[in-house]
Amino acid sequence: MHRASSKIRVAVIGATGSVGGAVLDICKRFPERFDVVALAAQSNHKKLLELASYHNAEKLCLTAPLSGTFKENGYTCLSGIDSLCEIASDPYIDHIVFASSGVSAIKALQTALKEGKDVSLANKESIVVAGPWVMPLVKREDQLRPVDSEHSAIWQCLREDNKKEISKIWLTASGGPFRDHSREMLERVTPEETLLHPVWKMGPKITVDSATLMNKGIECIEAMQLFSLPANKVSALIHPRSQVHGAVLFVDGTIKMLLSQPDMRLPAAAALAWPDRLELLSSGLDSIRPEKWDLQFREIDASLFPCFSIAFKAGEMGGAYPSLLVGADEAAVQAFIHGIIPFTAISQVIEETLAKSASSPPASLDEAIALVKTGERIAGELCKKWRHSF
Ligand code: NDP
Ligand code: MG
Repeated sequence: MHRASSKIRVAVIGATGSVGGAVLDICKRFPERFDVVALAAQSNHKKLLELASYHNAEKLCLTAPLSGTFKENGYTCLSGIDSLCEIASDPYIDHIVFASSGVSAIKALQTALKEGKDVSLANKESIVVAGPWVMPLVKREDQLRPVDSEHSAIWQCLREDNKKEISKIWLTASGGPFRDHSREMLERVTPEETLLHPVWKMGPKITVDSATLMNKGIECIEAMQLFSLPANKVSALIHPRSQVHGAVLFVDGTIKMLLSQPDMRLPAAAALAWPDRLELLSSGLDSIRPEKWDLQFREIDASLFPCFSIAFKAGEMGGAYPSLLVGADEAAVQAFIHGIIPFTAISQVIEETLAKSASSPPASLDEAIALVKTGERIAGELCKKWRHSF
């Protein structure tokens, strides 16, 4: 098939998910700029086929074992985790978006960077677990573009600045659905209530992480890695209206903030089109007018939301802790969603897992990934014990 060479040829890993949808929406709105050529997901073959047909994508990948449906529909589809690396090294692809959940795309992320592709990164687990093995592969300024909205905000605030002049950054948090709850109320919240986020519509795991504020702690680690900042220069604040996504204090006392609608299509657009800005005002996607700005902030209450501090501390300590944290959180969140542990036990399980498994820093990426599994296993066992006492 002939494709105009001036278009950016995009692959989306995690195409069937929430962020994947935001990215694909932007590509569809600007067909003169973007050509979606490859789509990958884990197992949702029905949605992947629909997306392939809608976006006219040629190359498909499901990391789980394939069904026969693809052949019936005339598509060839790669399968298995290694096939993500095949997409990441495809010379026909210019820009790869990592929007899958979990840690399975880390090696593909490394491949994409080594191959010199432009990379948009939404997947935070990969940078938290593998930052030391991913960041050195970034070859040029802005090759790796954050899509996580707070990190996109910081990245956009830093467009023309010297990173050495950063004094401090703040990531903002909506505070989630329970930001005004008491401890007693938190003890009774259900998975159904937790999965209804007041601002963002996201996949289930990150929605629970937003309610516990684990997401903000994980994002602080993500920021330490992406912007190469020590823990004492990274912080977070509650901003209930979610209009400001991030702020940077420079050494001269100047603060830059980024305001926009809370809509993942905006950071996706910033990453895909960099250094250009896409015309989105007229599309109604971004419409915060000055009279509607709301700059109210407050501190995170660490006694009500201990996951934030547990994660922040894991980032500060580094070594094995970020990987163990990611694994333990995955297991604890799944146990909560399935009714095995209560909401307030999520932090207890994670804290106990980290305390039990103090291990030496991973010497390799494979060791870091193995530590995620260790964290998941230990936390899973602790959750089973809870099931019997709950
Ligand atoms: P969803 O649960 O909505 O979607 C997850 C996507 O990843 C699906 O496409 C899923 O495929 C795919 N996937 C899962 N495992 C694999 C695998 N092993 N190989 C290939 N694809 C896989 O998640 P979100 O879109 O909410 O989040 C995705 C990532 O982006 C996470 O890391 C999250 O923390 C981050 N993020 C999300 C934000 C949001 O607003 N949602 C904001 C900022 C960051 P399938 O459908 O087949 O299971
Ligand atoms: Mg975020």
